[in-house]
Amino acid sequence: MKKLLLLSAFCLFGMGFVQCQSPQSAVQSNTTEVQKAYFTRISSDSIKKSLLVLTADSLGGRRTGEPGQRKAAHYLANYYQKLGIGTPPNTNSYFQPIPASFMTNWQMKLKDSENVWAYIEGSEKPEEVLVISAHFDHMGILLDKIYYGADDNGSGTSAVMEIARVFQSLIEEGIRPKRSVLFLHLTGEEFGLFGSKFYTQNPPISLKQTIANLNIDMIGRRSTEHLSTQDYIFLVGSDKLSQDLHHTAERANKESVNLVLDYKFNDDNDPQRIYYRSDHYNFAKHNIPAIFFYNGTHDDYHLPSDTFDKIDFPILTKRTQFIFETAWQLANGEHRPKLN
Ligand SMILES: [Zn+2]
Repeated sequence: MKKLLLLSAFCLFGMGFVQCQSPQSAVQSNTTEVQKAYFTRISSDSIKKSLLVLTADSLGGRRTGEPGQRKAAHYLANYYQKLGIGTPPNTNSYFQPIPASFMTNWQMKLKDSENVWAYIEGSEKPEEVLVISAHFDHMGILLDKIYYGADDNGSGTSAVMEIARVFQSLIEEGIRPKRSVLFLHLTGEEFGLFGSKFYTQNPPISLKQTIANLNIDMIGRRSTEHLSTQDYIFLVGSDKLSQDLHHTAERANKESVNLVLDYKFNDDNDPQRIYYRSDHYNFAKHNIPAIFFYNGTHDDYHLPSDTFDKIDFPILTKRTQFIFETAWQLANGEHRPKLN
């Protein structure tokens, strides 16, 4: 997530690797039981594998435009190509190049970089698209220390990759979503939300046809206020443009892993202004209903100590299952989410 002022500080670490328990018990009940169980395909092992690559020393903290981040971009493109997921209409590349001139601000100068995208076409309403996003850049190397960004935002990046994998596995079984889905890995977030700004100014699919944005930024840890509470997630923005979207997320949660949904940062008077600090905001600015999925902050936020070993994989997996279920219901709903 984007820095607001300087560095912030709180604390904690996750529990390494308790095996993820199957949430199937939450899924009995009615006629669409089979359909609802798709979220259980989201696998802790695949998420872990991706995150291990994203936090490798050789990626050097994925600073926008640096060689390490470019490696990350190629890793993502190869991942989608191997899965057999293609690129958006009117494009023939997994990359959306962004010139350095677009990404300068008072803080710093960044180099040329690119968003990475992959696209699944819907069966009934292919012209309508759901965008699932996460930024994959982080802060790079400062004073010889790698800022690994395992939570920020290796967690969201690996979640998007895993959600895409499960969508594609369903397609291979003949189960294609009604609407199209764009998996969008954004660059330039940490220093100005540049990737999402560029995307929304240069979208390959019209913004009018973009039904919603689900943006994932930091979902692999517990925050200071939730060290030992029930499994939770902060939802930000869900009801601001569309109550319909908000209800879909709540229903998807109930029908899947039943996390505690914390709306603390959804308050219009939130002093931390979390709503304005990740990429969903650029979608919301264009009147696209958006949800920001977020775990809150911790002691390692924007420090070299935001590392792989501190990720809480059971909770990361559950949150990814919830987001998958939300995405699945949006992609297959009778109507797209209505604006308020
Ligand atoms: Zn950040």
